[in-house]
Amino acid sequence: MRILYVEDEKFLADAVIHVLDKSGISVDWTADGEEGLDLAVKPIYDAIVLDVMLPGISGFDILKTLRERNIKTPIIMLSALSQAEDKIKGLNFGADDYLAKPFKTSELVARLRALIRRPPLQDEKVISFGDLYYNLKDRTLNDIHLSEKEAAIMESLLKNPDHVQSKEYLLAHVWGTESIGEENYVEVYISYLRKKLKKLNSKCKIKTIRSLGYKLCSKS
Ligand code: CA
Repeated sequence: MRILYVEDEKFLADAVIHVLDKSGISVDWTADGEEGLDLAVKPIYDAIVLDVMLPGISGFDILKTLRERNIKTPIIMLSALSQAEDKIKGLNFGADDYLAKPFKTSELVARLRALIRRPPLQDEKVISFGDLYYNLKDRTLNDIHLSEKEAAIMESLLKNPDHVQSKEYLLAHVWGTESIGEENYVEVYISYLRKKLKKLNSKCKIKTIRSLGYKLCSKS
């Protein structure tokens, strides 16, 4: 589980990150609202924890912008203002949950887990494309088992077939933002996946689109 945490109070952030980390939740933290928004649009987070009072752009503005752009990552708002009005505002703008400061970090962990456990809008267990059937539960492509990284890349390609996905995007999505510059990871795993598609005799191919990225196609 990977979350984005936008919080300008460093002491609080440190304490929260420590507990989340111990709970097996990896956290990308920023104190800056603008940077928070830049990161929040990336489809690499399972959830976003968003403080309301931030320098520059407020948590509400970030939330509003994300929902206007149709980004549906679950969001928990944090606010020192525990007024009902603030809570209602957050939920109206499309927040999934709201926690008043001060809060117990264990409470935040519990809420995050509940949020992520919630099934996505389409609770698909199998994604199919062309002659491929990918089972999200046991990470099998037709009857071949995929490694964790292979599965993450394949899932991303299958969810947006016929769309080019850049190496940078796949890298950040699968390995996280710290891996920027290691695009060769993606090349290696794409080659593993191509071998598996060949082994399956699939008509689907992962095409390389020069200087843009990869896309999954059902015909050669
Ligand atoms: Ca704040």
